[in-house]
Amino acid sequence: MNEADSRHLSSQLEALGYHPEADAGSADLVVLNTCVVRQQAEDKAINHLYRLRESKQQRPDMTIALMGCMVGMKEAPQLRRTFPFVDVFMPPSDTGPLLDYLADQGLYDADRSFDTREKALRDAIQDEEFSLPSGLRGQSVTANVPVVLGCSHACSFCIIPYRRGAERSKPPDDILREIRTLASQGVKEIMLLGQIIDRYGTDFHDDTDLAGLLTRVHAIPEVERIRFLTSHPNWMTDRLIDAVADLEKVCPHIEIPVQAGNDEVLERMRRGYTVDEYRRVVERIRARMPEAAINTDIIVGFCGETEDQFMDTYRLAEEMQWDKIHLAKYSVRPKTLAARNLPDDVPADEKERRRKMLDDRQTEILAAKSEKYLGQCVEVLVENRHKGKWRGRTPDNRLVFFDDPADWTGRIATVKIDYAAPYSLRGVLQGGVKRRSSVVA
Ligand code: SAH
Repeated sequence: MNEADSRHLSSQLEALGYHPEADAGSADLVVLNTCVVRQQAEDKAINHLYRLRESKQQRPDMTIALMGCMVGMKEAPQLRRTFPFVDVFMPPSDTGPLLDYLADQGLYDADRSFDTREKALRDAIQDEEFSLPSGLRGQSVTANVPVVLGCSHACSFCIIPYRRGAERSKPPDDILREIRTLASQGVKEIMLLGQIIDRYGTDFHDDTDLAGLLTRVHAIPEVERIRFLTSHPNWMTDRLIDAVADLEKVCPHIEIPVQAGNDEVLERMRRGYTVDEYRRVVERIRARMPEAAINTDIIVGFCGETEDQFMDTYRLAEEMQWDKIHLAKYSVRPKTLAARNLPDDVPADEKERRRKMLDDRQTEILAAKSEKYLGQCVEVLVENRHKGKWRGRTPDNRLVFFDDPADWTGRIATVKIDYAAPYSLRGVLQGGVKRRSSVVA
């Protein structure tokens, strides 16, 4: 989400005459876009801020803007007192405060004359917002496109609803306009984003839904691949599973967090499902798409999690054989239900022990899964070069590396796998894959 917000803002700033600067210390304007989903992320943002304060002490005319979940919908007054050297505060996905500030200060390119400042400014950047910043055009193979902003679920551990506000879907026409612009600038793979993306469109109270949106994105000829993230088990309909299975460009890759493998913990987390209900969803996905990658998120050491309850999660990992677990140690977030009502009573070293135990097991599971690719040919959409090799992903989201002197950026390669590690595969290039003509029709 932040990556997409930063991209939107970069494009708008370019439209105002700004250009990118590699070193934050020498830029006229620095925007720090922040995540606070865990304490660690927030600490990182605060450290960055203090480093920026040092730069500003050298060059008092530099503008510092703080964006994202640290600012949230209502933290700005408090932050203004704590960080008086910050000039502008911007909630997630809202570039307005900075654009207004720059206009007020006369800090945009003076050669561009606007009649009525604010409106003209907004008009001028309307379409730019969806363009890639110039440095990324023809370079970015994949792009994140937020389609559901905010979240109204209020899981007891999670700060996102408090910082990103209530759930709201973006109108399909706006989303398609953005994707068409991105596709015309070389983007081949679209990742649709939402906290509970399978709820897309429910707030419109018509027949708009994610399956319908996928169908419309699928019809854009330049788009080669489509993914979406994150699904909540309660909203994973058969219609959506069918759309993923039937639409050729939609990758067989589903991110569906379980968070814990024990019903009491799930209840305390206010996730809204039981382990058995989660199992049924995975069964429905696997019945329709046996080869689909199913990934999950797990939090260990949540309030009151006993050893037995953790072991339920561990055993569920054995059973589910997820293709990737995004693992986190529980961290208290201000104002959440858990912070107000439940003690953070699993000691730090115990959280780390549980995390490591699960992580070690997942490495073994993934090693075994990767080995099955040995000798097989996979289709790789190449994203970039990394340490002298081409790097890309299979439709089921496996990372693949291969060697070749030609430029493969944005192309689909067939690669025969001859080396398998838990988190990546390596192989020998067999040739290219032509764009599917069937879908261009
Ligand atoms: N909307 C998604 C996840 C969003 S946040 C969902 O419904 O699950 C991404 C991940 O961060 C979460 O899945 C969770 O595993 C982790 N996370 C969120 N709050 C956390 C906290 N307080 N401590 C540790 N991990 C947390």
